[in-house]
Amino acid sequence: MNLLALRPQATLQVDLDAVTANVRTIRARTRGEVMAVVKADGFGHGQLDVARAALAGGATRLGVTSIDEARPLRAGGLTVPVLSWLNALDADFAAAVGLGLELGVPGLEHLHAVARTAPGARIHLQLDTGMGRDGAEPAEWDQLCRDARVAEQLGLVRVVGVMGHLPCADRPGHPANARGRDRFAWGLRVAEAAGLRPVDRHLAATAATLSDPLSHHTMSRIGAGLVGIDESGTVRLRPALTLTAPLVTVRRVPAGTPVGYGHTWTARRATRLGLIPVGYADGLPRLASGRAEVWVGGVRRPVAGRISMDMTVVDLGPDTAAAVGDHVTVFGPGSCGEPTTADWAGWAETLEHEIVTGLSARLHRRSSS
Ligand SMILES: *Cc1c(COP(=O)(O)O)cnc(C)c1O
Repeated sequence: MNLLALRPQATLQVDLDAVTANVRTIRARTRGEVMAVVKADGFGHGQLDVARAALAGGATRLGVTSIDEARPLRAGGLTVPVLSWLNALDADFAAAVGLGLELGVPGLEHLHAVARTAPGARIHLQLDTGMGRDGAEPAEWDQLCRDARVAEQLGLVRVVGVMGHLPCADRPGHPANARGRDRFAWGLRVAEAAGLRPVDRHLAATAATLSDPLSHHTMSRIGAGLVGIDESGTVRLRPALTLTAPLVTVRRVPAGTPVGYGHTWTARRATRLGLIPVGYADGLPRLASGRAEVWVGGVRRPVAGRISMDMTVVDLGPDTAAAVGDHVTVFGPGSCGEPTTADWAGWAETLEHEIVTGLSARLHRRSSS
């Protein structure tokens, strides 16, 4: 008997082999190191599991936003270099050094706070290469490099890296990519001239790594690509998530039956309606109501009416063989024709990133590798 078939609840299956395979695919396309970016709980796939699977595929380091986001990696026994690049000025930089983390430094205030409170810190200076979001303003860069060199000579910090980030890497050929690359090269020259010797020089995230070799430098920071998302559309990576849910009830209804809040959908013919116990509190976007489909017994079936907080109704059709207890695939890798997280992103007018990172902790999770 297949015990998997008896799963009583909505289950999110994470295919960690896919993560390992994706890292191998990406490594084959760059001579640089791969830093696995495991922020946001490993893009919603489970931070420690994704980190381990990525390291198994050849990633050599990990990246996260805040210091707190790095703690579970150390608690989980991972000893590889970890970079944390998004911290408030009053963050516990000393604790970060104690955990052996490297720190992103986006400006003079951060440099001085780190040098004052966390002597010995290994830092990556962050240059704004066109995001207009994070990283030092170009006008401040020369001063940042000079002050960092002074702090280095005083033994307070070691500048081990320089990093940038590209805003339009999902569109190969967009002029912002060349501008960002040029600004990064300029930033490296300024750092050199100030006497810094950053060995880690990293600009590219997933899309740039897969579509723009000129952006590679010594390392790529790979997040989305770990879990099968390539926004540049150039490489086929393996999605790692499958969400299944049991049919809690199956009902026969007459033509004209309105369904769900606001009665936005009405059965045009007699049909059967199936109820699955997942809704927007689990991370299914309500905006996908009226567009989304799920996979039932090898066929796509439309969602009927609005996605509710905890549940969703599926129009199974009048002749369905589906019965209470059968499992529906809400999304999967797409290899059999089932909907994917990319489909859900399209139905909800958003990015796949938002779908995968928005899945709730309420979902029962299983990992396989
Ligand atoms: C999230 C993030 C990444 C990873 O980007 P992907 O496109 O998901 O690979 C890299 N660098 C920085 C600074 C990030 O915030």
